[in-house]
Amino acid sequence: MKILVVVDMQNDFINGSLGTKEAERIVPNVIKKIKEFEENKDLIIYTKDTHYKDYLTTPEGLKLPVEHCIKDTSGWEIPIDVIRDNKIVFEKETFGSVELMDYLKTIEFEEIHFVGLCTDICVVSNVLLTKANFPNKKIIVDSSCCAGVSVASHQEALNTMKMCQIDII
Ligand SMILES: [Zn+2]
Repeated sequence: MKILVVVDMQNDFINGSLGTKEAERIVPNVIKKIKEFEENKDLIIYTKDTHYKDYLTTPEGLKLPVEHCIKDTSGWEIPIDVIRDNKIVFEKETFGSVELMDYLKTIEFEEIHFVGLCTDICVVSNVLLTKANFPNKKIIVDSSCCAGVSVASHQEALNTMKMCQIDII
């Protein structure tokens, strides 16, 4: 079985408080990718960056004082054409998801693909966590379905993952 992990494709990262035009531009590619996995009956997993009203006083909020992905706000939601019903969603309060790793240990899979936002923070964090936990699995990142905080840091993160033997397509 193949797995597609859709990282933090939430309104605040697309066109909300931390949105970029690069993020808006990848949305059709991500939807196409999700449809491919759906047609092949592969597993699709979503992560959601999840903060609360006290965000600005948290360690992340002190370093990035921009409220985003506050639970149950529209910025926290995944756009309706990106999310699928009955799919597995992991909420996470930081960049990498330990719960996602624990879940992956309970299932059989051959390869795992990552898409989403932001390449240089939450995509790279989860990809390298996966590499550490599953060094023998094929790990693929589709660069046409990712965007970074900046174009330069997107490219730097892709290079970092490539150096760590992740397949960048
Ligand atoms: Zn966050």
